[in-house]
Formats: sequence, structure tokens, C-alpha cells
Amino acid sequence: MLKDIAKRWNGQLGVEGISLDIPEGSFTALLGPSGCGKSTTLRLLAGLELADEGAILIDGKDVTTSAASDRNLSMVFQSYALFPHLSVAENVVFGLKVRRVPKQERQEKLHRALEITGLLGYENRKPGELSGGQRQRVALARAIVAGQRLCLMDEPLSNLDAKLRNSVRKDIKKLQRDLGITVIYVTHDQTEAMSMADIVVLMKDGHIQQVGTPNDLYSNPNNTFVAEFVGAPP
Ligand code: ADP
Ligand code: MG
Repeated sequence: MLKDIAKRWNGQLGVEGISLDIPEGSFTALLGPSGCGKSTTLRLLAGLELADEGAILIDGKDVTTSAASDRNLSMVFQSYALFPHLSVAENVVFGLKVRRVPKQERQEKLHRALEITGLLGYENRKPGELSGGQRQRVALARAIVAGQRLCLMDEPLSNLDAKLRNSVRKDIKKLQRDLGITVIYVTHDQTEAMSMADIVVLMKDGHIQQVGTPNDLYSNPNNTFVAEFVGAPP
């Protein structure tokens, strides 16, 4: 999916030599300390940045230079990125409206997405009238209503308090399993990555240090950085 990707800004390294194969239907976590290149990798996948080197394939299709809108994926941001003046329902179906999906179909998809995210009854609220957890659910509903098979999430829980984080974490896992979608999930929180992901990609200074199951990283760390980051015994 990612083949030897590099991205720099005026010599400032974003990422380098990033090669990754993401199995369909898997939950993959991009993990690592702040500034290691997680968001850059996700933004390159999403088409929000263009790579300087390498190739990106989604569903076997080369999208290296394709516009973000042509990549058949949805994205959930840390900041929710909701329109404050629009209702929950309007926020969720915004993209469908842009794509001129007929009203009847929009209503059906909206209902299903609100059902899945536990937001039925909140259709007419504004984001400002919701808790942080509910806002993040609206962002999730908006991502899944598009029906894409690939969903990218950038630290979606980091604005939530610890208790909420736990419950939304479970919601996201359940969503991914029930819908059978592929999720690529950015986090700096090793507990989050190790508990949610099928595959963990641990990064440092713009490079991948190790790719494996949580157990691989814990039991068989490639180097001391990996061992220390995942809290493996010395
Ligand atoms: P992470 O998400 O892991 O915290 P980022 O991918 O945001 O890390 O950043 C990786 C590196 O790329 C950092 O050194 C960051 O400063 C740099 N970087 C990211 N975006 C830009 C940009 N638009 N311009 C210049 N440097 C950037
Ligand atoms: Mg980031």
C-alpha cells in the first residue's frame, strides 16, 4: 500500500523509507512519540500531502498523485472538525449532500449511522450542545455514513477524558469489527495501540522501527527503543 514513501519540507524530514502493507479489514495503529511522522504518514495516505518519493496504492490502484477526493476513504480528526452552525444530522450527511446523494438515501444512511454510533435522538442538536464524547461520535458517524472501506483516524480520542476515552475506544473497535472496515489509527498512546490494534507500526524520527502484532513488539522487540516504548521487560 505504501512503497518507500518520503516527505520533506525545505529539508525538514517528515517521513522517509515508509513501506507498509495494510491487510484489508485490519486495525492498524501508527504509534510513536510526538513528531515521529504518524500524522504525515496518514495525511500522505489521505492525499492531504503529496509524497516526494515512493508510491501509494489503495485497493491495488495507484493513487500517489490522486486528489484526496478520489481516494475512497474517510478520515476522523482529533479536533472533530464539525461545522458548529450545523445540526448533528446536517454534519453527518454533509459529504453525501456534496456528492448529490438523493434525499431518501441520505435519510436512510443517516439513520443507520446514528444508530450505530448511539446518537439517535440527537439529530437536531448543535455540536456546542454535545459532550466531547458525543461530538467525537458525530465525527465517527460522518466518517462511516460515506460507506468507505478504509477509515483513517488521527488521535481521535486525545481530546477526551480518561473515562470517555475508554468507552469510545470500545465503540471504535466494535464499529470496525461490525462494519468489517480497514482502520488506520494514529496514536502516541502505547496502551491504546496495544489494546486496539491487530498490527502496530512503531515509528521514530520519521522512520518505521517495527511492524508486528502487539505481542510481536512486546515479546520480540527489534531494538531497545521498541522495547522501552511498549514497556517490554529488559
Ligand atoms: P506526529 O503526528 O507523529 O506527531 P508529524 O507527522 O506531525 O508527527 O510530524 C513529523 C515531522 O514533520 C515533525 O518534525 C514535524 O515538525 C514535521 N512537519 C509536519 N508537517 C509539517 C509541515 N507542514 N511543514 C514542515 N514540517 C512539518
Ligand atoms: Mg500527529
